[in-house]
Amino acid sequence: MNRTDPQEAATPGDVAATDGASGNGLLPAQQRPRIARPVKLPERIAAAIVSDIVSDGLRPGDRLPIESVMRERFQVGRASLREALRILEVHGLISLRSGPGGGPIVTAVNPRDVARTFSLYLNMSGARMHELVQARIFIEPMVARMAVSNRDPASLKRLEEAMAYEASIPPDDERYIEAANNFHYTLTTMTGNRVVDLLATALKELYTTRVVSWGVASRTTEPSIRNEHREIGEAILAGDAGRAEELMRQHVTYYLERMEADPSSLSNETVTWG
Ligand SMILES: [Zn+2]
Repeated sequence: MNRTDPQEAATPGDVAATDGASGNGLLPAQQRPRIARPVKLPERIAAAIVSDIVSDGLRPGDRLPIESVMRERFQVGRASLREALRILEVHGLISLRSGPGGGPIVTAVNPRDVARTFSLYLNMSGARMHELVQARIFIEPMVARMAVSNRDPASLKRLEEAMAYEASIPPDDERYIEAANNFHYTLTTMTGNRVVDLLATALKELYTTRVVSWGVASRTTEPSIRNEHREIGEAILAGDAGRAEELMRQHVTYYLERMEADPSSLSNETVTWG
């Protein structure tokens, strides 16, 4: 077990960016702290627990040690430990069950939780939907290129299955959105890069849940999307990284154009928390 001392878990040497946009709601660049804020004890314990989960190779569904063992391990009181566990639960990293046989259980990393936390900050900063789609114009073409360079027989099979599933669902079927999302999510898993996978999936999730919750899902189900997905998929299957990247750039750029051309556009809606 990795004996991380929670007192040492903080990394105060992190230096924040000192340039860049200071848009609506964001702390201006010159006021951003150069040194990260001090980290409180429960947060340090939470970080040490995450460190243990990773170094011990715990998988979703595995139990964490019981409370008395963790208190001994981290040399902390009950209140601090419970607050640490609550922090992890809020972030969707563990589930807490009470009663006999209860206790903290490791859960799978879910991009939906990443998206939810990110949306809180986006909401506070006043970020708009078109900014979200603009960001996807940068990351999605990279996903398509990496899906080609990291492809292997198993991932190509998953892509073929995702394409066949999307092709089998009529555009006016409510399951089409799920099938179209599945195409994108399959590509992100093909990148072989967990940062790109999580980031791209979280951004896509933020976009989809808001479009669906605002009741405009039908506008995303036009036939052109099905064709664009098929062409991107075929370029990846053919091993053409340049074409896959360019087709994906066009595909996400069309999203932005469609959104901005719509009279009841979501383009200027704030990205809300949730
Ligand atoms: Zn798409």
